[in-house]
Order: sequence, then structure tokens, then C-alpha cells
Amino acid sequence: DDLVLRANGGTMPETSTDDAVWRERITPGRFDGKTVVVTGAASGIGRATASRIAREGGRVVAVDISAERLEALASELPDSEVVTVVADLTDADHVQRILDAAGPRIDGLANVAGISDDFSPIHEVTDDVWERVFAINVDGLFRLTRAVVPVMLAAERGSIVNVASEAALRGSAAGVAYTASKHAVVGITRSTAFMYGPRGIRVNAVAPGGVATGIASAGTTSEFGGGRLREFLALIPPIAAAEHLAASITFLLSDDGVNISGAILPSDNAWSVQ
Ligand code: NAD
Repeated sequence: DDLVLRANGGTMPETSTDDAVWRERITPGRFDGKTVVVTGAASGIGRATASRIAREGGRVVAVDISAERLEALASELPDSEVVTVVADLTDADHVQRILDAAGPRIDGLANVAGISDDFSPIHEVTDDVWERVFAINVDGLFRLTRAVVPVMLAAERGSIVNVASEAALRGSAAGVAYTASKHAVVGITRSTAFMYGPRGIRVNAVAPGGVATGIASAGTTSEFGGGRLREFLALIPPIAAAEHLAASITFLLSDDGVNISGAILPSDNAWSVQ
């Protein structure tokens, strides 16, 4: 709430009333019969995405490091099929847990998990920040996608949505580690879309602007967020709710995105054109 207030000059934005509507909004049955793996499902954008897919009839494989928050998600969706998988995307051995939980069919993969950096420019960034940001935002996404693609190839269909960032569209939205990591996500998205397009797999990315989630709140799930990010967010266009991003991600994941592959879709209230 603090972030939203700052970003809107101290007054509550219209999206605060919108949010309740968006939390409830679904396209009934859009994911009926489909299994979708969602990473970062315990918080923020991943959680809103997992919840929406489940409420639209999908079987969700919800992946995160936080067991407690995953259980909270599952208990909020008693009428849906939510399989929770506690896995650390930086651990190559955990990928198999996700495949085992998903089973023989994976229709969708939403690579949402990610961390912010500490806004360091290149002459200040530490090895620790650089390596940790890449370990999660790039290496983890790469390894899971590499494991899931053969399952989709066997079925000759699938849809993958990666979460990039405004920072992938230009250089102003974070420090060098995060910005470079999200440019890598765009590269993976384009290469994968090109390689597998002829074999029935669509691959796209969503580039969020500012979104009110744990990533910007010190003391929550963010490892390197906090102060500098909070100050920065005060300068950008109205901050979206996680549900707004879930709407963009599920559009591309679902058959509604049928003709779209290789796209990097800004979902940012026009930030990228300012
Ligand atoms: P968040 O912190 O609320 O959620 C991220 C989730 O990822 C957390 O539940 C966390 O536990 C999980 N995660 C972190 N490291 C993990 C690991 N090693 N293994 C498994 N799970 C792990 O943040 P969010 O804002 O919802 O971020 C989701 C995605 O959106 C990220 O990729 C982020 O870079 C991107 N993004 C966010 C914003 C924003 O303003 N919030 C803007 C642009 C892009």
C-alpha cells in the first residue's frame, strides 16, 4: 500500500478498487484439462497467475522455495487442483521434483520466479549479487525450461511464458545484474520460440512495469530489494496489482494467444513508451 501511495502522489489510485474485481475475474474453463507449471507461485505475480489458472479449471503445479506460502495458496483454492512443489530453482537436482509432480503431460509453463538486485551500477556490483541474480533469473529458468520442453515436444504442443521486465526493454529500471538477467530472459524467449515454433510450442515473455508485490518490500521474499527500489518505484507510472500481470500472462499461456509466439509483451501502463 505504501508503494502504491508513493507512486500516485499520496492518493489512493483507482486500481485499488479495481483490484477486488481483478482478483475475482476469470474466463471459466479456459484451462480445463490442462496442466500448467508456475514458478514463484507463493507470492506476487506467480501466485496471482497460479490462482487464476486454477480458478479457470487448470491443474496447477505450484513451485516455490516457500512451503508455508505454497500451502496458503493451496488452502485458498480448495475446489481446484493445486499440486505444490517446494523447490529451489538454483538447485539442479530439484528440477526432477517438478517433473515428477507434473506427470506425463505439461501444457503450460510460466517462469515467474525471480529476484531483484540492489540497483548497483557495474562499478559497484558485487560477485554475490551478480551470481545470485543470474542463478535464479537466468540459470533456474533455463534448466527448468530445458527439462519441460521434451515433455511438450512429445505432445507437439505447449505454451511457455517467461517473465522479463521493463528492465529488459531499456536500461533504466534496475541495476546492471537484474537488467542483464532480464535481457537474457528475452534472448532465451526468442531463441526458444524460433526453435520450437514449427513443433507446436509457443514461447513469449511479459515485461511488467511496476507491480505491488513482495519483490519491493524489505523483509519479505526479496533478497536484494528494499530501499533503493522503493525510492525508484515512486517515480514510475501507476503500479499494477499482481492480478493485472496474471491477466497478461494467462492470455499468452492460454489458447487465446494462439497466433502469438516470440513476442515480448510490455504490461506496464505505457511506461515503455514514455
Ligand atoms: P515476489 O518476490 O513477490 O515473488 C517471487 C517469488 O519467487 C517468491 O515467492 C520467491 O519465493 C520465489 N523465488 C525466489 N527465488 C526462488 C528460487 N530460487 N526458487 C524458487 N522460487 C524462488 O516478486 P514478483 O514481483 O511477483 O516477481 C515475479 C517476477 O516478476 C520476477 O521474475 C520479477 O523479476 C518480475 N518483475 C516484477 C516486477 C515488479 O515490479 N514487482 C517488475 C518487473 C518484473
